[in-house]
Amino acid sequence: EMTENNHVAVAEAPQSNQEQTEPIVRYRKVSKSFGDNQVLKEVDFDLYPGERVAVIGPSGSGKTTMARLLMTLEKPTSGTIEVDGRQLWHKEVKGKLVPADEKHLHEVRGDIGMVFQHFHLFPHMNILKNVSVAPIKVLGLSKEEAEERAKTMLDKVGMSDKLEAYPANLSGGQQQRVAIARALVMRPKVMLFDEPTSALDPELVGEVLDVIKEIAAEGEMAMMLITHEMSFARDVADRIVFFDEGRIIEQGRPEQIFTAPKTDRLQEFLKRFE
Ligand code: ADP
Repeated sequence: EMTENNHVAVAEAPQSNQEQTEPIVRYRKVSKSFGDNQVLKEVDFDLYPGERVAVIGPSGSGKTTMARLLMTLEKPTSGTIEVDGRQLWHKEVKGKLVPADEKHLHEVRGDIGMVFQHFHLFPHMNILKNVSVAPIKVLGLSKEEAEERAKTMLDKVGMSDKLEAYPANLSGGQQQRVAIARALVMRPKVMLFDEPTSALDPELVGEVLDVIKEIAAEGEMAMMLITHEMSFARDVADRIVFFDEGRIIEQGRPEQIFTAPKTDRLQEFLKRFE
């Protein structure tokens, strides 16, 4: 299947600060099939602490499946995924790997925050409650502590004047900003954004991208962003990963990917956005 024009480009050398650091997320030979449809094909992927990676590629290429595997919403057919040194689906007991139990899955999930295309806010809770409920229920914070934290996050996404509002009374862009605050309030090590603006009216896209850019600029969390917004990817990411047909075809720094794509497939893909 690999012809000269269809080769897999070698990844660029990691940044110097990454050489001493362990990846926070590590996919190794990860494959995923749905029936006969092999959606991911032995994917190796590392995400480093503080690194922002944008994942681009045609629809159906497996990007969302990559994200859903990290969130343990799907299980790999083969291969392993580690978060902060712990495997998602196995845990170590006395030096041996055994299948993960619910408690283990719950713990590793706690390291990851996710924002989907659709906001999934709780319709019957006001905004403050939407953001403070998980810190109370999952992290065991007091109501006061959780609300304090929630207010800080809602301020960060520009929603502190809507604490008492209900989701139905907010625009899609506002709801998505609340969804981002709700993920951040858990202080995850990794934030995952899966096409966070693709369900929004065009005029609301900018405000959500701006919030994500601000979070990215703080540079504390590792971020994986699946996006069709190429200029946004270029602005915000340290590294771009191009997916096609279940494989990473090419990856590198944004300027290299967008100005000097190496593979025909990436060149073809980028033409659609010219
Ligand atoms: P992308 O995010 O790049 O658009 P996806 O990961 O959503 O790609 O989908 C890749 C392929 O996997 C598609 O062919 C899709 O139909 C298939 N797929 C995804 N989820 C499921 C599922 N739960 N059951 C069956 N097929 C699925």
